[in-house]
Amino acid sequence: MTGDMRPEDFKTVYDRFQASVSRFDCGRFCAPLNNGQPVCCDTSHAIPVVDKPEFELLKGRTDLWHRYKPVDANSRQIVADLHKGCMAIECKGARFCERDNRTLACRAFPFYPYFTKANELVGLATYWIFADRCWLISNMQVVERKFIREFIAAYEYVFDRDPEEKDAMRRQSASHRRVATRNNQPILIIGRNGGFLKAMPRGGEIKPAGPRDMVRHGPYKSPRAYARAVKEMDGEMPKQSPFID
Ligand code: SF4
Ligand code: SF4
Repeated sequence: MTGDMRPEDFKTVYDRFQASVSRFDCGRFCAPLNNGQPVCCDTSHAIPVVDKPEFELLKGRTDLWHRYKPVDANSRQIVADLHKGCMAIECKGARFCERDNRTLACRAFPFYPYFTKANELVGLATYWIFADRCWLISNMQVVERKFIREFIAAYEYVFDRDPEEKDAMRRQSASHRRVATRNNQPILIIGRNGGFLKAMPRGGEIKPAGPRDMVRHGPYKSPRAYARAVKEMDGEMPKQSPFID
């Protein structure tokens, strides 16, 4: 993020966006495939990027976060490509998580606000590159209404103050449409008022989504695929099955 959000504006966002994404502790389902660490809390998979005023707010509240130091050519490139108003940061790790001091990116993961070609914010789409690792992307039916409401309200608050962030999310949506067209797969979207939608490949037309559109990915396709993946990672099966329906 890069625009006119002040530290106190991020505090407002944090105060208003506290809902849990679901009633499941989904980190227990993805961590066995990632050396015991929830995937989205591990900078080797996802590096949190914040607006500098957001980091200012966090620094005043906690010592949980520090500036991220790139570890290889890829992460150096990610940091080099950031807009000057943004920075990459890293927390002390999932064991030390402070719920109130999670970034907006932590709270929203794996979702981003999806804009149609006509620039309408219709709901929540996912950062698709995590589909092979993030349990939630294969189980979007668990997402709570309260989370959806707070997510949309938080981003609308940000967009009202920071048009560049809105542009960034429009570009993200357009890039997702290109991937959908290449793969000939619709984009699954949680509608801002509940229910599921899909943006069709080649054009992005929005239609209602049905049970056939609720696709599972990678190790989350079947209990057997999951057990095999956990074994390959020398992980420990979670006490609760990740296959919940
Ligand atoms: S959001 Fe996805 S990656 Fe993050 S803890 Fe939950 S299942 Fe894992
Ligand atoms: S603050 Fe919490 S949710 Fe965010 S990356 Fe760290 S451990 Fe994960």
